[in-house]
Amino acid sequence: MTTPSKSCIKLEKWLLRQIGKAIADYNMIGAGDTVMVCVSGGKDSYTLLSCLLALRARAPVDFRIVAMNLDQRQPGFPADVLPAYLEKIGVEYRIVTEDTYSIVKDKIPEGKTTCSLCSRLRRGIIYRTACEIGATRIALGHHRDDILETLFLNMFFGGRIKAMPPKLKSDDGRNVVIRPLAYCSETDIARYARAKAFPIIPCNLCGTQENAQRQQIKAMLREWEAHFPGRIESLATSLRNVTPSHLGDSRLFDFAHLTGNPASGEEDLEGDVPGAQQPSQKSFAPIRVIRVRSPQSPMA
Ligand code: SF4
Repeated sequence: MTTPSKSCIKLEKWLLRQIGKAIADYNMIGAGDTVMVCVSGGKDSYTLLSCLLALRARAPVDFRIVAMNLDQRQPGFPADVLPAYLEKIGVEYRIVTEDTYSIVKDKIPEGKTTCSLCSRLRRGIIYRTACEIGATRIALGHHRDDILETLFLNMFFGGRIKAMPPKLKSDDGRNVVIRPLAYCSETDIARYARAKAFPIIPCNLCGTQENAQRQQIKAMLREWEAHFPGRIESLATSLRNVTPSHLGDSRLFDFAHLTGNPASGEEDLEGDVPGAQQPSQKSFAPIRVIRVRSPQSPMA
């Protein structure tokens, strides 16, 4: 076994700190939990499993980890790669084989998007397996950048502010889904996966290209980050600092019954955000209208 480099150890520490913080912030895992970690063979899920195992080794509470992989019978899926890896690292695991690939190909006409049926089928199998193994948590490998891409997809194409929560009750109400990588950047995860030389399984075996709109958003976020370093982190932080009274959703804030209290003497500057630049006094100054008469004007 090769000794990890100093930079890999440092990166792992950084990832563990962020994952530990997300777990604590959202009370994701407690004593006695069984966490079913969904492992697809991609960089994110390998990182999630590896970091959760490292955290469990030093956690003050005891919890069970079961790695789970769904073999969807996609052409060329190397069925032996994950079992070999999971055996090697000595984690309890369950491989579920269900030919969802054929179902999707059968039901969806050629050229139409297959992802929604495919993920619905996959979700059902994951929830069922979680119940079978007695899992109290289903851990998914979505990270900070996935969450932000989803936010912008929903804003740009769905007209709503909605991302991916770090913790949620599953659709069937029987499971709790957690996303411990919610604070981790994709770049750090990719670096970590390279450093650990995880046996990555390609993610395009089903023949479907990744959603073009998501690709565009990803490119937009990357460009922003290149021009304004720190912007992505600021956006991610904003998801944890929501002020319903300064948005416009009457279901979250009772705008209809909002009243003033002249006696209080308190000032409330609309849009007053701590740290945000306020308009200068000048911009509130009354505008002086200067009329200029042009000698050529027919009105002159
Ligand atoms: S990309 Fe392929 S495997 Fe992934 S959800 Fe879409 S159809 Fe399913």
